[in-house]
Amino acid sequence: MKSIRLTYKRFVIYTSSFATVIALISIFGWMINFDTLTSAVSGYLPMKFNTAVCITLLGIALLLRPRNNQSKRDIIKILSLLVVGFATITLLQYIFINFKVDDILEKASGRINPITALFLIVIGLAIFFNCTIKERCKHVMQYLLNLVTIVCGVILIAYLFNVPQFYMFNFITAMPFCTALALLALSSATTILNPSYGVVGLFTGKMVGNYMARKLSIKMFFSILLLGYLHNLDHRYDWVSPGLGSVLLTVSFMAITLIFIWESCTAINKLEYKKNIARENFRLGVESSPYALILSDANEKIIHANIQTEKLYGYTIQELAGQSLQLIIPEKYLALYYEKKQDNTKVVSLGIEEDIFAVRKDGTEFPVELVLTPVKTTEGAVVMVSVFDISLRKRHEKIIRTQVIELQVKNQELENLTYIASHDLQEPLRTVSNYITLLEEDYPDRITGEIKEHLGTMQAATNRMSLLIRSLLDYGKLGRNRILGPTNCNDVVTNVVSDLNNLITSSKATITIATELPTIYAYETELRLLFQNLVNNAIKFRKKDAVPRITIGCRKLNGFYEFYVSDNGIGISCKDKDVIFHIFKRAKTEEEYEGHGIGLANCKKIADIHGGKIWVEPGAESGSTFKFTILNFKA
Ligand code: ADP
Repeated sequence: MKSIRLTYKRFVIYTSSFATVIALISIFGWMINFDTLTSAVSGYLPMKFNTAVCITLLGIALLLRPRNNQSKRDIIKILSLLVVGFATITLLQYIFINFKVDDILEKASGRINPITALFLIVIGLAIFFNCTIKERCKHVMQYLLNLVTIVCGVILIAYLFNVPQFYMFNFITAMPFCTALALLALSSATTILNPSYGVVGLFTGKMVGNYMARKLSIKMFFSILLLGYLHNLDHRYDWVSPGLGSVLLTVSFMAITLIFIWESCTAINKLEYKKNIARENFRLGVESSPYALILSDANEKIIHANIQTEKLYGYTIQELAGQSLQLIIPEKYLALYYEKKQDNTKVVSLGIEEDIFAVRKDGTEFPVELVLTPVKTTEGAVVMVSVFDISLRKRHEKIIRTQVIELQVKNQELENLTYIASHDLQEPLRTVSNYITLLEEDYPDRITGEIKEHLGTMQAATNRMSLLIRSLLDYGKLGRNRILGPTNCNDVVTNVVSDLNNLITSSKATITIATELPTIYAYETELRLLFQNLVNNAIKFRKKDAVPRITIGCRKLNGFYEFYVSDNGIGISCKDKDVIFHIFKRAKTEEEYEGHGIGLANCKKIADIHGGKIWVEPGAESGSTFKFTILNFKA
């Protein structure tokens, strides 16, 4: 489309430049009194000085496109009105009195020919109206312009065939050759400003007829012109006898016509062939579609249905043809369609936000999704209905929903069990611990040596077990009364760093926040615990001979926030990288690193409740990088 517009624009520029150049040469000819320049062809009538000025003004007006610039538009209007005014006064002079307007410009060249003046008025007005929005005026002017083009064409042919009657018009003066040429160029350029209007529309349209008109017109025009010219020469120089001349003309004309008919038929057949292939492909597409496709007319009568419709609804295609569309879409849903469609071009989908059911021939209902597409055909506007049977999807959705609910209940039960179990375990443990203390207090003489040592070990074991149970209890409690809210991660990390101040100072650790940390929707207390565990571990599992360097950062990724806590510590072997997130599992159990293997299990649970996950990668500085994601609840 853009290239076609560009072609029209170029046409306007070339033809109006051509007319302007002819007129300027003529003006120059008048100035230096050189006849050949004023008449273009030696011996022909010269273009009047006044005409040349008017043509130059109109040529400039046409060259001043584009018209979306207001000041340029104003200049175009002024130039065209100047020419219209001058040509109108000239015409009036012929009818009424002499206003001596011709003398203003150039005495020597005389008054503009009345036909030329008329044509200048038409072209001037057409250019003027083209700058306004009056569509009706544009249409009228377009037909008048076509007339100017045709008359100028006839005059040029008359010059070519040397038939003065056609350019003399029995008026006061004849239209000069170069004037006719320039006016033809100007009128064609002005016509192309509105390519779809008037006779030009026949050549600029997009239909097959327009394509044929474009393809044939120029060839036919020049062939007939050549034949006519040869016949004219024959007539003038008596090459062959008049009878033979007429026969030759007739035969040549018939031959040319035959060639063009042949060419047109081949082109039309080719187009027809392409159209048939496209139609067949469309038919195949419709028939092999996995969806039921139904065409219905404006009166809701089914025109056609594909094989899938038969399978889905149980009706044969013959049974469906001519039936009401309500057989496919029950009445209440059809009403919904009319509610949703605002105009005849809108595609409407039903069954996405609401539940829609269609009815089979045997009366059973099934859930569907419908898409109704307006389609233009030669028989008028029709609607193509696509029906998707979503029974299977609905069944799966139901299964998933029940399973999710079951899973939620089971999870809740499990959490309660862990909580209750660990809570109840504390009690007997406390009793054992109390009795050990009692024994030591009540029998200080007897609790000595090996017995005291054993009781000490028992006490340490009960303390450790109590700690483990407390950890389990905390793990169970995690996220119980969670509140999701906007959480500023910068604040969270700053608080964690301040809480761990003693550890950081004693280990001389440096903590760098590498990127701006976002404010996210999260469970603040849990998120804080997550950062605390990771930073704590990063310091705890440091190398003996290195100062801990920790980097924290974040980036947005596919609907998630991805955080990382990186260190230069002892690192984690590949075989341990998954197991360390399990409760009470540790990679390093040596005494040198204290711990119970609960911290990362907590971190994993916290990442889980945020819809994310946690994992560890080897760090850039031989340490490790812990990464976790948090669902961007606002995305
Ligand atoms: P704990 O720290 O109590 O051992 P965690 O669950 O926090 O328990 O960690 C589990 C194990 O993961 C640790 O014992 C340790 O082996 C390993 N680990 C955790 N963080 C790091 C780290 N930053 N560098 C190296 N190893 C780590």
